[in-house]
Amino acid sequence: MTTAAPRSGLSRLSYETLDLYAPDRGPAAIDLSDNTNRWGMPPAAERALRDVPVESVTRYPELYAESLKQALAHYVGSSAGEIVTGCGSDDVLDSAIRAFGEPGEIVALPDPSFPMIPRFATMNGLRSVAVPLAADYALAADAMLAVDPRIVYICAPNNPTGTATALSVIEDVARRVNGVVIVDEAYAEFSDANALALTRRLENVLVVRTLSKAFGLAGLRVGYAVGAPRLVREVEKSRGPYKVGALAAAAAVAALRAGRDWVDTHVALAIANRERLCVELAGRGYGPVPSRTNFVFVPIAGADAIATGMRERGVAVRALAGITQVSDALRASAGSALRISVGPWPQLAIALDALDDARRACA
Ligand SMILES: *Cc1c(COP(=O)(O)O)cnc(C)c1O
Repeated sequence: MTTAAPRSGLSRLSYETLDLYAPDRGPAAIDLSDNTNRWGMPPAAERALRDVPVESVTRYPELYAESLKQALAHYVGSSAGEIVTGCGSDDVLDSAIRAFGEPGEIVALPDPSFPMIPRFATMNGLRSVAVPLAADYALAADAMLAVDPRIVYICAPNNPTGTATALSVIEDVARRVNGVVIVDEAYAEFSDANALALTRRLENVLVVRTLSKAFGLAGLRVGYAVGAPRLVREVEKSRGPYKVGALAAAAAVAALRAGRDWVDTHVALAIANRERLCVELAGRGYGPVPSRTNFVFVPIAGADAIATGMRERGVAVRALAGITQVSDALRASAGSALRISVGPWPQLAIALDALDDARRACA
């Protein structure tokens, strides 16, 4: 009998390639780097946080956030049995990958897309295969299915490109894959389409959402998924109990029960400002990609240096380097781009000037 060579370190071998997630998060007067809600949060959530009773913190929260599930079910028009919650949608995504993939199986994801997914795959012993988007940033559905995935991750609309994926494409992938399709709809509120209807027709589609973006509650860490009861139950097993804290649940429930007014108003503002930002950027000679989210993707050479220059002028945006060069614009920029979150117009006006100044200084 042969035995494996003794391992030197204490960590899992597959973890040696993992590092802590470390985006540049230094303070900035105007922070347009993380796509959170720059207008704030629903007033009902603020009131709930102020008024939370002491006993709700000295006791454990609900096991599987039953009240939150009820409120979310009402918001998305489903039943509580079709909802699973988590500590941010990151937790839901991680739990779903663990629930549906055996170690060694493949998670297919688009490239470029949300950088947490390959990490979650590795953390759970799965392999991730990044499949380049088409030249117009459309999902390369056939190429994704060709890698024989157990899980297909689709970010719709996609972070960082801001582009949408047609529902017919998602449905086609779901019907053909031997496994589960995870549709990450972190930005669904800013888009004109979502895949909720698919979750009722197909037992293998899980739509993952968050209260971190349109609802402005990123610091509370509340995410959820919608899917067939059998599907969400598997995620719930993998997630475990007590994942949503009592304060987070109370504020989230208050925000959801308050109705859609605050969210709808600020989503409409974000969309109007997004379109105006794209027009301004194009007028100044940049190449913004039309967006269905609350951010704008701008392929541009030297994004790192430009973002550093903008930060010196008090504005934080996300610089991305080494992006797979799927489009003409990304080839022209050598795989470099800025991702600029949309906020109140006065902030965007300052950001535009900081961008121009920083680009001049870099030229
Ligand atoms: C912001 C974002 C999330 C949200 O993560 P939370 O853990 O819910 O804060 C999920 N997916 C994508 C693509 C995102 O951009």
